[in-house]
Amino acid sequence: MALLTNLEELNACYIDGRFMPPVNAAGAIEVWNPATGELVGRVPNGGAAEAGAAVAAAQAAFPAWARTLPADRAVILKRWAQLMLEHAEELARILVAEQGKPFAEAYEEAEGSALFTEWYAEEGKRAYGETVPPSAADKRILVIRQPVGVAALITPWNYPATMVARKAAPALAAGCAIVIKPSSQTPLTAVALARLAHEAGFPAGVVNLVTGRASDIGGEFMANPFVKKVSFTGSTEVGKQLIRASADQVKRLSLELGGNAPFIVFPDADLDLAVDAAVGNKFENCGQMCNGINVIYAHKEIMAAFTDRLTDRVSQLKVGSGHDPDVKLGPVIDMRSLDNVHALVTDAVEHGARVLTGGHRLTGGAYGAGSFYAPTVLADVEQDMKLANEEIFGPVAPLIPFSDEDEVLSRVNATPYGLAAYVFTRDVRRVFEVSERLEVGMVAVNSASLSVPQAPFGGVKQSGSGREGGHFGLEEFMNIKYISITL
Ligand code: NAP
Repeated sequence: MALLTNLEELNACYIDGRFMPPVNAAGAIEVWNPATGELVGRVPNGGAAEAGAAVAAAQAAFPAWARTLPADRAVILKRWAQLMLEHAEELARILVAEQGKPFAEAYEEAEGSALFTEWYAEEGKRAYGETVPPSAADKRILVIRQPVGVAALITPWNYPATMVARKAAPALAAGCAIVIKPSSQTPLTAVALARLAHEAGFPAGVVNLVTGRASDIGGEFMANPFVKKVSFTGSTEVGKQLIRASADQVKRLSLELGGNAPFIVFPDADLDLAVDAAVGNKFENCGQMCNGINVIYAHKEIMAAFTDRLTDRVSQLKVGSGHDPDVKLGPVIDMRSLDNVHALVTDAVEHGARVLTGGHRLTGGAYGAGSFYAPTVLADVEQDMKLANEEIFGPVAPLIPFSDEDEVLSRVNATPYGLAAYVFTRDVRRVFEVSERLEVGMVAVNSASLSVPQAPFGGVKQSGSGREGGHFGLEEFMNIKYISITL
């Protein structure tokens, strides 16, 4: 089915089961290819009016969708997941064009989005309540779960498909009607997913999508009393604005915000495994992953061996267009991001860090019009350097040595973030001790991958609140009601 090949057809908001007519250049947001600097497509530059119309459509569709049997909702969700798989190649091409990641990663993202959707199609059937022992013989206590209502879903540019699926699938499975607001830098993948949702047969108004001005659309979500829940993934800064704006209506929020993940290698670790995992995680999506490694802490006994192997691997990573099958790293999302990454590296070098590989922009030739950065390893990094404390969001691996467990834990727990941490050790006592003392929402031991549909993804401290994945993800979109019955 050639549903997604014409990018002009993605130039539309989706409201009440209809794709609005495409807008011309004047009323549009332009979407640029970060690898080539070329125009990829356009989407409407919508605002409060479009968001309001989408919320009204969702509110009208909500009661019937909430009453639809979970098993019947599951049929449509599974059809959506199936369509994602059937169109994985087209979705991947759109992802490469607007986001820049290598095709293989983009294809995996499309498949992963289907996996999430399929998983929640089933999980929606298990939104169990409880009966609770009463305190009087003539009483019965029931606890039921009900969908919150209209949910607004705001997504970032780094995983334009997965972020939509991770919010939309649990919301829809719970019985909510949704309005999606994708990132203005990568909206085309989200519109493509809306096209597939339309094809899957969700009733009109259950799924809506609005592109455009973030503050206007976000403002409408926060002000509109029909929006009962906002699920946001993005920067901590915008997350804080949403918390403030949610106060007036005490609106429910889930926030998946920035991270600063430590990767800790103890002296008894399997170094080859650790290097493999470090390269896989740190350079996935060109280092633009919220749970991506920010700093590698290697014990001083193995620092030299780890550094050599890591540098050797990183210096061989091929950078370029995501369409080239040998390429492991695409560009970073835009020039502003490129400047940020380079400024953090420059600051570290000025304060004594040593560049072992990379450390510069890639320019000229095939890199000429894109925002490319050389995969970088930095040694002699100090804890007080900026890049050890700020989210780098680029292909830069700083290395800091440590001497013992207490020292490394006090360093990594000092950050205001708390999303993920990675620990490499073969000592069972240490696995538990360190995992339990880390102030984060997720720990991976002897691996550096975390995102699966059945587990709760999310952070603590300024990395956010709420979880995506598992039954926890479904509960984010449900209210609990306690019913006391006197017989
Ligand atoms: P961002 O600038 O905060 O944008 C995220 C989304 O929020 C976009 O759709 C953006 O729209 C929208 N937005 C911006 N201002 C808004 C406002 N005032 N009201 C409502 N919506 C608003 O973040 P980003 O740069 O796209 O994403 C990168 C960040 O996301 C990183 O910090 C990363 O760590 C974090 N992230 C976290 C997780 C997690 O699970 N914890 C996962 C992925 C990413 P426009 O594009 O139109 O501005």
